[in-house]
Amino acid sequence: MTADFSVDQQRRLVTPVPGPRSQELHARKTAAVSSGIGVGLPAYIERAGGGILVDVDGNHLIDFGSGIAVTSAGNSAPAVVQGVRDQVADFTHTCFMVTPYEEYVAVCEALTELTPGGHEKRSALFNSGAEAVENAVKIARTFTGRSAVVAFDHGYHGRTNLTMGLTAKNMPYKHGFGPFAPEIYRAPMAYPLRWPGGPERCAEQAFAAFVDTVHSQVGESNTAAVIVEPIQGEGGFVVPPLGWLRQVADFCAEHGILLIADEIQTGFCRTGDWFACEFEDVVPDLITTAKGMAGGLPLAAVTGRAEVMDSVHAGGLGGTYGGNPVACAAALGAIETMRSEDLCGRARSIEGLFMERLEQLRSKYAAVADVRGRGAMLAVELTTGDADLVPDPTATAAISKHCHSEGLVTLTAGTFGNVLRFLPPLVAPDHLLTEALDILEDAFAKVLG
Ligand SMILES: *Cc1c(COP(=O)(O)O)cnc(C)c1O
Repeated sequence: MTADFSVDQQRRLVTPVPGPRSQELHARKTAAVSSGIGVGLPAYIERAGGGILVDVDGNHLIDFGSGIAVTSAGNSAPAVVQGVRDQVADFTHTCFMVTPYEEYVAVCEALTELTPGGHEKRSALFNSGAEAVENAVKIARTFTGRSAVVAFDHGYHGRTNLTMGLTAKNMPYKHGFGPFAPEIYRAPMAYPLRWPGGPERCAEQAFAAFVDTVHSQVGESNTAAVIVEPIQGEGGFVVPPLGWLRQVADFCAEHGILLIADEIQTGFCRTGDWFACEFEDVVPDLITTAKGMAGGLPLAAVTGRAEVMDSVHAGGLGGTYGGNPVACAAALGAIETMRSEDLCGRARSIEGLFMERLEQLRSKYAAVADVRGRGAMLAVELTTGDADLVPDPTATAAISKHCHSEGLVTLTAGTFGNVLRFLPPLVAPDHLLTEALDILEDAFAKVLG
């Protein structure tokens, strides 16, 4: 790593976590912010860089979350900061639909170049992942003249009405928020650990179950799109077996169904490739991106085949802020950093460093039912340790809590809340990752030992 960080890359605790100033702020939060907005670790942050978050009490915390896979290129990455500074001084907004600007076009050109497939492409920019997913569905419906959308068990696509419908998990995402949009259908996910026929038969049987869902419950000719995360994010970093995604893609192509790859969490070097679909040479018709793309500024995109993207009537897509120039400048800086620092290669080396340690945990604890993921998107699934694979969300939460108190910011995930997931910034130096894995090992010993 050649990066020069503004924040000292050392874990340092000077108070308990959260400390007194964070606790004061948290009392203000409780009085002013809706309790519907939850907080994982109430340590209030005032600076960040590389793999470190500095809280208001002066604690240096190691970041294993990247703000949910967003600050892959680092927090306040120098090229992002420079791009944003220059842009914010030039102009902050015109609305691209009123009077356009180059930065928007440049981000779309980068998406054409970086996303899978050498075909002619177009993109449209939005503010959030959920908004990109909504627009991908709108585009797919217009192009195909069909209405049904098929999503998968354990899938996560956002919190707006349409995307809540696409998201599988009830609590906390959907509970009490219905009714949801119609014409959404759900197929079983190829989840090797939990596949009833066993992991060896998962690819084949899950594909057959998917085909059966589309054929008997929806009808191929009614299906506009199938939306899939190549590796599921909130659903617990579920990695489908090799071959499954390719079969799903081929089935879609055969029936004129558009394949939407939701790469909002997996995209932009996170899994060791620019996009996770590349691992199996799958070329989706449409791809949704957000999170890692813009170094922390809100920006999302739909990129796809030119004929699909251009099938929408003029003025049919857009929004006041979509592709805001400051967010676009941030994206250009983040992408430049990913290229110049080879962050895809860095994600693969992070995988090597983590996997060795996580596999040690698997061999030591029966409760570790699975270690999985790719690149710097890695997870451990915890059960009570018996053959029935009963999820253990309590131990998962306890391990995460222990990490928090030691100054390591960890996230959980999974439909059953029993997955610890690791999403370090790709620029975090090895010594921090190693120290964090030591903390994790201690947490396992305390909770499971
Ligand atoms: C986070 C996420 C979304 C939603 O993105 P927001 O920006 O939170 O709306 C959609 N799909 C996937 C796979 C995600 O991880």
